[in-house]
Amino acid sequence: MHELEDQLVVCMKCGMCQSVCPVFDQTGREADVTRGKLALLNGLMEQMFDDPEGVYLRLNKCLLCGSCAANCPSGVSVQEIFLTARAILAGYMGLPVAKRLILRGMLANPRLFDRLTEWGARFQSVFTRPVNDIVGTSCARVMSPLIQDRHFRTLAPVPFHRQVPHLDRPAGRSGLKVAIFTGCLIDKMFPNIAHSTLKVLDHCGVGVYLPENQGCCGIPALSSGDLPTFQKLLGHSLERFERGQFDWLVTACATCTSTIHEVWPKMADGRHRDAATRLARRTMDINQYLIREAGLQPLTAPARNPHIVTYHDPCHLKKSLKVFNEPRAVINATPGCTLKEMTESDWCCGMGGSFNLQYYDISKGIGMKKAVQIRETGANVLATGCPACMIQISDMLSQAGADVAVRHPIELYAEALEK
Ligand code: SF4
Ligand code: SF4
Repeated sequence: MHELEDQLVVCMKCGMCQSVCPVFDQTGREADVTRGKLALLNGLMEQMFDDPEGVYLRLNKCLLCGSCAANCPSGVSVQEIFLTARAILAGYMGLPVAKRLILRGMLANPRLFDRLTEWGARFQSVFTRPVNDIVGTSCARVMSPLIQDRHFRTLAPVPFHRQVPHLDRPAGRSGLKVAIFTGCLIDKMFPNIAHSTLKVLDHCGVGVYLPENQGCCGIPALSSGDLPTFQKLLGHSLERFERGQFDWLVTACATCTSTIHEVWPKMADGRHRDAATRLARRTMDINQYLIREAGLQPLTAPARNPHIVTYHDPCHLKKSLKVFNEPRAVINATPGCTLKEMTESDWCCGMGGSFNLQYYDISKGIGMKKAVQIRETGANVLATGCPACMIQISDMLSQAGADVAVRHPIELYAEALEK
């Protein structure tokens, strides 16, 4: 808590975070913006005993999108402060039973998590029905308070780890080799992104190390204040990747990349800090890797299906890692893809992990603004570098009745290779 106090004094209460906060944009409440939350944390020591649940709820009303930190003139470490404060509060109050079951019972045990989601994939058609074939969404057959009116992407029939359990492919003509951190959403919902990644790396002559039994990057646990589960998952990942020989660790998930690069070194405990820092320094987004290291070249094959593509900047890529040119370069290197920018392409989509579950009305308000901006471009494809953004934007476009396909840039490039 003392460390937190040292960081809080950096905020000079200028209020510049207000104009960029998507939650404040929806609610107009000072308590929902960074300055308001930091003021709340200033009195954390007393408030924690008076009204811990109130503080926890107000702190959780945040997407952890990093828009405030990216625009803060004082360089306040907003994400680190919020994550630390959530861990302090969860440590004091204990986790709610449902979160404990999901995080410690399931997420912390990758094999069990795999088995449960495989069962879910087998039986999901009993409870869901397709609603928009172009976007690729389904809805619930029976209304439930958890699902509400969401249009969602279903689990893949076969997760990626069952199709490609592990790989150790030597460096090809480039002399380069990467390790791949798959990420839960790509593994269980979007295996085509992982296949596309393998295909494009092979095209560039890059070898691949893909360890088996990968786990979650840990951010869902950490953002709920569950530090022990985060440390357990971090140890699980480090153990697997330390065994491999590779130049860079790449991921096609913006949230995983940002977590490994930015959060692991800061939040790792003493046992894991050095190894986490070493791996973080060698971690890169797949688009950035292909353009910067692998020398991805534009394809010259004629396009069969021309697309107008608009690109959404995931907060975890642009604001956290300053990666925004490279995904556009991958799209521009793909024959038949004409990039048309939307207004405010870097405005948050409103997903925010468990924020979407807890504050769906606010999340939907933010996301629908994005859906309007996408439709204004006339694009028939929305590309983005984060599977979590893909889930949220699919929901918004589908509910808005738009026939816009939602894809990762690497899927577009990989498809062009097949032609
Ligand atoms: S922009 Fe930074 S310094 Fe200004 S109020 Fe927000 S957090 Fe504090
Ligand atoms: S992280 Fe995003 S949602 Fe949270 S306070 Fe900052 S700008 Fe607002």
